[in-house]
Amino acid sequence: MKEILQDLSLEELGALVLSLGEKKFRASQLWRGLMQGKKISDITDLPKAFKAKLLERFEDEPLKIAETLTSSDGTEKYLFELADGNIVEGVFMRYKYGNTQCVSTQVGCRMSCAFCASGLNGLIRNLTAGEILCQILAINARHGGTLEKRAVTNVVLMGSGEPLDNYDNVVKFLKNVSAEGGICISPRNISLSTCGIVPKMYELADEGIPVNLTVSLHNADDEERARVMPVAKAYKIADILKACDYYFQKTGRRYIFEYSLIEGENADREHAERLAALLKGRPCHVNLIRLNEVKERALSGAGEKEAYRFLGVLERAGLSATLRRRTGADIGGACGQLRASRLKGE
Ligand code: SAH
Repeated sequence: MKEILQDLSLEELGALVLSLGEKKFRASQLWRGLMQGKKISDITDLPKAFKAKLLERFEDEPLKIAETLTSSDGTEKYLFELADGNIVEGVFMRYKYGNTQCVSTQVGCRMSCAFCASGLNGLIRNLTAGEILCQILAINARHGGTLEKRAVTNVVLMGSGEPLDNYDNVVKFLKNVSAEGGICISPRNISLSTCGIVPKMYELADEGIPVNLTVSLHNADDEERARVMPVAKAYKIADILKACDYYFQKTGRRYIFEYSLIEGENADREHAERLAALLKGRPCHVNLIRLNEVKERALSGAGEKEAYRFLGVLERAGLSATLRRRTGADIGGACGQLRASRLKGE
């Protein structure tokens, strides 16, 4: 595989341009063109000879949209093909306040959560910073967005992969996606979701990129949590909460817990009460979602009534909580579902 130009910051592009014997201002032209989602060969204001030099070393199109599915609720799901033939998926969701793009950070995942389709075949490889960025650039361009008027206004790192298990590439991506003069999406409009890799949560807090931190909790009890999330054997909930406190202290950002309601596992009144007791008084928000059923996994989502009862317990305890709609359920909206069926040739 060739190198990926979208991995570079504007500063690094500057050094590259000079090393190739071009004038410095070419870096800004190049950066702008790439940020508009263009292939190198399609950036018209660059000299042909310079583009030819770049193409010897760099991928012209590190990622392309291989398939698009549109849900009855307007949600769009994409399969992206990478230069080495691997595929990852992304989701584009329309909300009143803007459009959210959900991006993948790894091909596959090694966390093996029992309800998730992303880890069915383990981790294949990490995505580079540029491959994560290109998912946004491609979708922004597809929806007629420009750098001045973006079609993608919010980003969530909730596609396949565990972002904090690909830390350096993810941090580089966060810097480039929020950099001035590029697509410039503010860290405040970006949410990073983790299964709770405690040491990396501290590192992220110290990084100075105040993204919204989201933790996939799914249970208030360590042992029960470990039944569906193997990573819970390594990191205890008490330590996750300490890392969240530190994150809040450093960034001033309230943090969020994801809690997927699984029938017979974590969704009854007792579990709601335990969660409420655990989180009471914290500067946090709880996002409930009824599990999206994954064919390959023997777990079902809680019923709607049970989900509302769970929400009621949290609200009465004074917690800020919402029950999310299951957007795109008819198009395999949950993590890894679409890729899993593509790999099996369905
Ligand atoms: N690895 C990261 C981000 C990816 S998953 C993390 O663990 O947070 C984004 C969210 O979707 C996580 O909260 C994850 O637990 C949840 N999820 C995965 N599969 C799901 C499913 N089938 N139904 C509902 N939520 C699911």
